Amino acid sequence: MTKSIIWFRNDLRIKDNPALHDAVKNGEILAIYIYDSNESIGQASKYWLHNSLKSLNKDLNNKLNVYSGKPLQILNKLIKKFDITNIYWNRCYDPYSIKRDSEIKTKIKKQEIEIKSYNGSLLFEPWEIKKGNNDFYKIFTPFYKSCITNILQPNPPIKNKTPKKYINDKNSLNIDDLKLLPKKDWYKKFDKIWNISEKSAHKKLDSFIKNKLSNYKNGRDFPALNNVSELSPYLHFGLISPHQVFHKINSLRKSEQTEHFIRELIWREFSYYQLYHQPQIINRNLRPKFNNFKWANSDKLLQSWQQGKTGIPIVDAGMRQLWQTGYMHNRVRMIVGSFLVKNLRLHWKHGAEWFYDKLLDADIASNSASWQWVAGTGIDSSPYFRIFNPITQSQKFDKDGEYIRKYVPELSKIPNKYLFEPYITPDDILKKCNIKMGETYPMPVVDLKESRKKALDCFKKL
Ligand SMILES: Cc1cc2nc3c(=O)[nH]c(=O)nc-3n(C[C@H](O)[C@H](O)[C@H](O)COP(=O)(O)OP(=O)(O)OC[C@H]3O[C@@H](n4cnc5c(N)ncnc54)[C@H](O)[C@@H]3O)c2cc1C
Repeated sequence: MTKSIIWFRNDLRIKDNPALHDAVKNGEILAIYIYDSNESIGQASKYWLHNSLKSLNKDLNNKLNVYSGKPLQILNKLIKKFDITNIYWNRCYDPYSIKRDSEIKTKIKKQEIEIKSYNGSLLFEPWEIKKGNNDFYKIFTPFYKSCITNILQPNPPIKNKTPKKYINDKNSLNIDDLKLLPKKDWYKKFDKIWNISEKSAHKKLDSFIKNKLSNYKNGRDFPALNNVSELSPYLHFGLISPHQVFHKINSLRKSEQTEHFIRELIWREFSYYQLYHQPQIINRNLRPKFNNFKWANSDKLLQSWQQGKTGIPIVDAGMRQLWQTGYMHNRVRMIVGSFLVKNLRLHWKHGAEWFYDKLLDADIASNSASWQWVAGTGIDSSPYFRIFNPITQSQKFDKDGEYIRKYVPELSKIPNKYLFEPYITPDDILKKCNIKMGETYPMPVVDLKESRKKALDCFKKL
């Protein structure tokens, strides 16, 4: 009799789950999740994980067994206790997981246990896409072209069977025992915003297709419209697979909207691709010349950015959206990123760390690649000398100030003419709007022109 472990990781779903699909083919299965004590995961992600595990457990008729500790030790115990013959999992692509999983494979295979791993979270394996000379791509556009014209079409989603015969481990922990919910209850607001389950991920995709896709290409740039899918945290923890998203969009009538959405999905692929081929992307500048860059060092400036109190309304709105919802619109992620790295001249790692802790979609591949892109330290990135002006960005992408007013309510009464630069507002208007600059709303923590010039000077000295 075959007795298999299905080890759930960032694939917390039943449908289109290749490892689960094969595990349930014969015999009994032990469905497990291991909270790996060595893995570093942010507070917002822990909140998402907690809720995703609850939902998966429900979908598995309460048959998910949960553990905390070192995966190799836990797997070895389970193998002995239940006479396990096979182990199935979907692959992870970050350097820590790759090392851990290959060690586990080598050690457990010696016991004549069959281990099978699958691709459950990417459209293409990172080693599949190569240049003609076998080298890997470093620039997005040729990578993208290669993906969309690739003869390796992304697999269609698999129709999974729900497991029938489960093994139950009486020593499984409860999901609550993992104590994933952060001590500070800032996350409680998220309960009202996010429905976290496999079913909700599909609802979100359907609602995006119905209501937003037709204006995605242009609308995606305007934070107040929020004309985006908000699928990123579901994709990160695998409540929906990129194959399911890709195939659903690809089955629609082809348009520049569908093409643009798929292009964004390929940015996600490119992030994983870069992480796989250049794992140093997590903590080292991909352009080594930036190792000599003269970063500033100021806890005060960093805190003003983290708390959304920089005195630059669009930056503050973005940082407060992050705090209040666990999400930030992509356009604003770029604006706050540029402001941190170029106007405040603080190292991109500070931004990446804050995002990694506070974003519900925190993803080591997309976060690291995007910060290196914003900072200009990546290989294919926005050049350092291209510095976003947060004022013109708000005039262009939030021209009615709807997004700023939502997240910076203390500026809600100020006329549009001054909203983006409240510090130049005449005193009588400030008074009418009940605003005291420096008291009810901060003065800018840096001068935009001077800080821009200083950043460019430092860049020239490299
Ligand atoms: C500084 C910075 C940090 C970021 N950190 C993360 C992160 O930790 N996790 C994360 O998933 N994304 C990150 N992004 C990328 C992007 O902002 C988000 O993926 C996107 O905003 C998610 O919203 P959405 O699902 O509504 O996107 P949509 O516009 O609906 O796009 C659909 C999907 O495509 C993928 N995608 C879209 N844009 C990008 C992109 N630029 N890079 C990679 N994938 C993309 C996402 O999986 C997204 O869910 C970051 C961007 C910046 C500038």
